[in-house]
Amino acid sequence: MDLPKIRLRIARIGCTASCGSPLPRFCLFKESIISKQPSTQSLIVGAGLAGCSIAWRLQEAGQPFRLIGSSQLPSAVEAAAGIINPVTGRWMTKSWRFDTLATEAARFYRSLEKRFSVNVFHPIAATRFCLNAEDAKRAGRRSRNPRYAGVLGDFAEPSGHLGPFRNAHGCLHIHGAAYVDLPQVVDILRHYFSSLGRFEDAVFDYEGLKPHGSGWTYGGEHFDRVIFCEGAALRANPWFGDLPLTPAKGETLLCRSETFPAPDGLVHHGKWLLPYPDGSFRIGATYDEQDLRPEPTGEARVELREAFAQMTASPQALEVLQQPVGIRPSTRDAKPLLGRHPEVPGLFVFNGLGAKGASLAPTLSREMHAFLFHAGALHPETDIQRLFPCA
Ligand SMILES: Cc1cc2nc3c(=O)[nH]c(=O)nc-3n(C[C@H](O)[C@H](O)[C@H](O)COP(=O)(O)OP(=O)(O)OC[C@H]3O[C@@H](n4cnc5c(N)ncnc54)[C@H](O)[C@@H]3O)c2cc1C
Repeated sequence: MDLPKIRLRIARIGCTASCGSPLPRFCLFKESIISKQPSTQSLIVGAGLAGCSIAWRLQEAGQPFRLIGSSQLPSAVEAAAGIINPVTGRWMTKSWRFDTLATEAARFYRSLEKRFSVNVFHPIAATRFCLNAEDAKRAGRRSRNPRYAGVLGDFAEPSGHLGPFRNAHGCLHIHGAAYVDLPQVVDILRHYFSSLGRFEDAVFDYEGLKPHGSGWTYGGEHFDRVIFCEGAALRANPWFGDLPLTPAKGETLLCRSETFPAPDGLVHHGKWLLPYPDGSFRIGATYDEQDLRPEPTGEARVELREAFAQMTASPQALEVLQQPVGIRPSTRDAKPLLGRHPEVPGLFVFNGLGAKGASLAPTLSREMHAFLFHAGALHPETDIQRLFPCA
């Protein structure tokens, strides 16, 4: 790719240098001479959860920025249920850095609630049903493990059914779960930044970003740094597009039922079911790394309907109201992608929030802000530096 003042060639190769790392490494060959021209302005590209949360950190610190994102392009946050769950996955493991992330997430969303007089953060009781005998053994082990104290209640024996749910193998109560109305979070922040003249609802044109002095220009403005937050669209980014993102499409069903008494809390029973105060509930989510078209599919609808039939003890009516779909910015090592470009000054990335943006964004936006402005170190498992150990 040729840009007027800086020529980049990005090649993805195995790291053959002394560290012998199996991870791919980015080699960038640049031809540029950049003169010094100080500026403090930041440009943030992508106004989803990552972009809005880092913009909020700058706003809180009184630092100027411009946020560009398109409401017309696909966005994971529009489909997200916003669940924060301490114990996830097939192996029922405690989520990475959960205690830190959950505490900071509660503080972050509560502060937005106060500032904008909204209600976006909802702590919720949660129950995880075991699917088979092996699952039940694991649940018993976890509930006795001190590391899980505080997030897991006692194991409840099988009882045929528990309320409307099948309970053939027992279940566990989970403490510390919540859900966040992420589309509303992003919506209020975009509106707020727009009212300050800082948010532009537009598609970002990579060709329009030019190196200039010690920074970059875009749309006639000079920026000291550019922070890319495009979610799964990162793959189109000329500078960071080769980072190991493994996007995964997800679909959910927003439903209503005249026969099914929606539970008081979140239920995990193969898939999850999240009840809303108006009596509707959401079932999710599918996971597909092959079909990355941002359109809902008949296959996903069938899969989720079948999952609902499997979790209930008796047949229930189901009316589908909506089928939200999005592409999660997941990563190969299931860890976020944060940091500075290894070769090109002034370019940064804040991505890879995967399926856990609700819990990750508050802490990681704070850590990214400290990294950008106070020489703070990123958590080593989030820093993209881990991908080029020889650099
Ligand atoms: C079905 C589904 C269910 C989910 N459920 C949960 C859940 O329960 N809990 C949870 O924590 N997380 C959940 N997630 C994950 C969550 O949505 C993501 O972690 C989060 O949205 C990632 O934020 P992001 O800002 O990186 O990406 P996104 O939310 O996708 O935002 C990126 C933004 O950048 C914009 N953009 C990209 N390129 C450009 C460009 N060139 N110009 C302008 N704008 C651009 C996009 O349009 C988008 O608005 C779910 C995701 C899906 C798909």
